[in-house]
Amino acid sequence: MPSVLIVEDEEVLLRNLEARLRDDGFQVFAASDGEEAMAHIRAARPDLVVLDIMLPKLDGLSVCRMLRKDDSLANLPIIMLTARGTEVDRIVGLESGADDYIVKPFSLGEFLARVRAVLRRSPGHQPPQEQLVADDLSLDLKGHKLFCGGAEVHLSNREFMLLAELMRNSGAVLTRDLLLTRVWGEDNFVEKRTVDVHVRWLREKIEEDPSQPRRIVTVRGVGYRFEG
Ligand code: CA
Repeated sequence: MPSVLIVEDEEVLLRNLEARLRDDGFQVFAASDGEEAMAHIRAARPDLVVLDIMLPKLDGLSVCRMLRKDDSLANLPIIMLTARGTEVDRIVGLESGADDYIVKPFSLGEFLARVRAVLRRSPGHQPPQEQLVADDLSLDLKGHKLFCGGAEVHLSNREFMLLAELMRNSGAVLTRDLLLTRVWGEDNFVEKRTVDVHVRWLREKIEEDPSQPRRIVTVRGVGYRFEG
């Protein structure tokens, strides 16, 4: 079941697109601004992104360019939504690296056809990673679930995204700044300490002895490293 992230700040349109894709058997995620979209894409790696151009915080063209510059995300299929139907905007949309674009207003039938076509054209470009495994920890990226020794451990959405980021970069030190950007977006209201607090919560869930962590290791003065 392909997963699709819809990034759209018009609430009603977002809900309609979501419902249409879900009815058709897609796994659907939603984001209402560009930063939230980047954080979701990095953590969950959807199979396709439907990206509105005019978005709060970080606009759709910037998101598209950032994805295309990131080696691991450069092949992620993107459909841009635009309310501005001029040729110039269409060209900008495709130059930014989008696979297709749809000019608003459009019918849900047309939308679904484009989604299917783009997915067909990119057959398993990069088969999405379905799970991250380390020892008896298994993070199900599609189902957003964590299993520890076979038993499911409940994680909040941020905890899930943080653990996914750490496990994906197993063995590498990730700074608090990097984790903040990737997991929380560039939200200025979040303090670096937030990362530490979430790491503590994660440790309580996945470490045998949270006071002597062996999985999420502190690298003093720098950040954290996941030991696979
Ligand atoms: Ca918009």
